[in-house]
Amino acid sequence: MASHAQNDISAGFLHEYKSFATDAVHAGSEPEQWNSLAVVPPISLSTTFKQHAPGKHAGFEYSRSGNPTRNCLERAVAALDGAQYCLAVASGLAATMTITHLFKAGDGILCMNDVYGGTNRYFKKIVAEVGLDVSFADFTKLEVLKAALKPNTKMVWIETPTNPTMKVVDIQACSDIVHEHNKDTVVVVDNTFMSAYFQRPLALGADICMYSATKYMNGHSDVVMGLISVSRDDLYERLKFLQNALGAVPSPFDCYMCNRGLKTLHLRMKQHFKNAMAAAKFLEADPRVDKVIFPGLPSHPQHELTKRQSTGCPGMITFYIKGKLEHASTFLSNLKLFALAESLGGYESLAEHPAIMTHASVCEEERKELGINDTLIRLSVGLEDEEDIIADLDQALNAARP
Ligand SMILES: *Cc1c(COP(=O)(O)O)cnc(C)c1O
Repeated sequence: MASHAQNDISAGFLHEYKSFATDAVHAGSEPEQWNSLAVVPPISLSTTFKQHAPGKHAGFEYSRSGNPTRNCLERAVAALDGAQYCLAVASGLAATMTITHLFKAGDGILCMNDVYGGTNRYFKKIVAEVGLDVSFADFTKLEVLKAALKPNTKMVWIETPTNPTMKVVDIQACSDIVHEHNKDTVVVVDNTFMSAYFQRPLALGADICMYSATKYMNGHSDVVMGLISVSRDDLYERLKFLQNALGAVPSPFDCYMCNRGLKTLHLRMKQHFKNAMAAAKFLEADPRVDKVIFPGLPSHPQHELTKRQSTGCPGMITFYIKGKLEHASTFLSNLKLFALAESLGGYESLAEHPAIMTHASVCEEERKELGINDTLIRLSVGLEDEEDIIADLDQALNAARP
């Protein structure tokens, strides 16, 4: 029988990871771990745990060092990332901070030049100020990455696709180049945009995969959290130490919520892909739009690479509206279904203006270099009906017609 129509947009992409849905539903949530045999992991609020004798405990001592609800979430995410371990922290930036604490003054950090605004701000305004050697380069050109590696480079930070210009970085090729330069240099991938469902950085040679779980991994815009997946024992031991020693841990309630969100990750991501593909095609064909950037479209310069390293594309679309700032503003103010709001990756459609909103912390000159101009609009396409999503875009484009 011919493949189902709904599978067609995945044609040419990597196949779905084996048993992903089963792991999303079950990994880390085995009822046998609880005396009650609870099918849904309980929210374990206790900050402290009784010991049988001094130093003899049942696996938990104090909730910052370890918590049963957090454990369930961490084991679920490790399974979904094909990783040995995962550590949950209080936010995506707390994950970035915890990972960066693997290094010390004098160590070099080389970062993709187009990253989440908060990552850019953290590396430039905090990490560089305390004596680490921070530099940026465009990893979409492998020779640029090669030339930017220095003897002191200890960490290479990749974000792909980048935010908001959706450049795609070849994770395997970059990891190979970095590890050839120095096998101990840690390659980190910020996998926030793709989620574990669409991309497995550890299988592509990266050492650490991190998330702002605030976005797709939780997926319901009601939790701020970060996740760090890793398979190397030495890195895990050190990161586990840092999770406790730095103390940026998430609450048991948030861990419960994020774990709950993961149960439908595969279903949500498939629908995000389908809706985003429809919206991207609509925008690309529309004369009121200058240009659409969506890695799922053949017009994206790294469409082939995207298909080689991913199982699909999330709901993130960037486009340039025809006109000037006022037209972008009018478009955004006239959206009805899409909420004008920062953040992304939730079940609801959001739209925003990166130059004024999410990327205001990136200096103007740099924004210009990256193409983050006044007509650039970023969409996070949600899980509403496809026709309603397109109708909303259509009426707001009409309102903003130059
Ligand atoms: C939101 C985001 C972050 C920061 O995560 P928080 O949970 O807000 O701290 C990091 N990277 C990317 C790509 C993001 O979108």
